[in-house]
Amino acid sequence: MATNPLQKYFRQPKIYISLPSQGIYSAGAIAGDVNKLAVYGMTGMDEIVFKTADALISGESTARVIQSCIPEITDPWSVSTLDLDLILASIRVATYGNELESMRICPSCGTDNTYTFNLSSIIDFFTAAQYDNSVKVDNLTVILRPLSYKDSTDFALRNFSIQKRIAQINTISDEEEKKKLTSEILNELTVLRQEIFTHGIESVTVGSDAVTDRIYIAEWIANSDRTVTEQINKHIEQNKSRWTPPLQKIKCSGCGFEEEVPIELDQSNFFVNA
Ligand SMILES: [Zn+2]
Repeated sequence: MATNPLQKYFRQPKIYISLPSQGIYSAGAIAGDVNKLAVYGMTGMDEIVFKTADALISGESTARVIQSCIPEITDPWSVSTLDLDLILASIRVATYGNELESMRICPSCGTDNTYTFNLSSIIDFFTAAQYDNSVKVDNLTVILRPLSYKDSTDFALRNFSIQKRIAQINTISDEEEKKKLTSEILNELTVLRQEIFTHGIESVTVGSDAVTDRIYIAEWIANSDRTVTEQINKHIEQNKSRWTPPLQKIKCSGCGFEEEVPIELDQSNFFVNA
């Protein structure tokens, strides 16, 4: 095929990123060097798809945009959630630049302030973040794993649909029907919570035997004292806080009031061109 004379005008990589997970939870999903993945800015089409997606297809559109902007990630659904914030921040930087504008109303005087944050510091933060996957519970060693983007999206959608039905319960006038539905939904919610929990466990080692069978692990959790779940949860929370970027100091232009706020990359500010 003849070379397109427009090829030299195609988009070029803007930045390179290193995945905090090192790709170990995403076997086969990354074709390139996990320490040097090229990130391109979004195309006009990516932006339209991403911008207009509603909650039900937002996972699908995010996956497409990841594949478009970081082509070496061949299966975005298998990407670990550890890498997701860094990936989205890097796509934001490659598309709109390093600065992120955020609005905030001063809680002290009501002034509407606009602050500019530097996303490269967020990228540096995630690049250096460490995930500790091992927790000792009695004689057992529990090895944790982060969810894949696919699992995380599926769980979020199921939770979304359960929450919607919980909201609808109040509109039912028949008390019997209400009771029946409440119990049904509660069961579903319990099953979902259990599934999320066991999905986060890679293996449980006792002596030299590693149990990886999900059904055995689920059975063990279902038949353990609450302190077991508590210890694992505590460890998961510690990992989570290691993955939370430091708060940013801001100062109101009206009254000088100072606060510390999180930098959040969400739908509302992702597309704002700072
Ligand atoms: Zn103020």
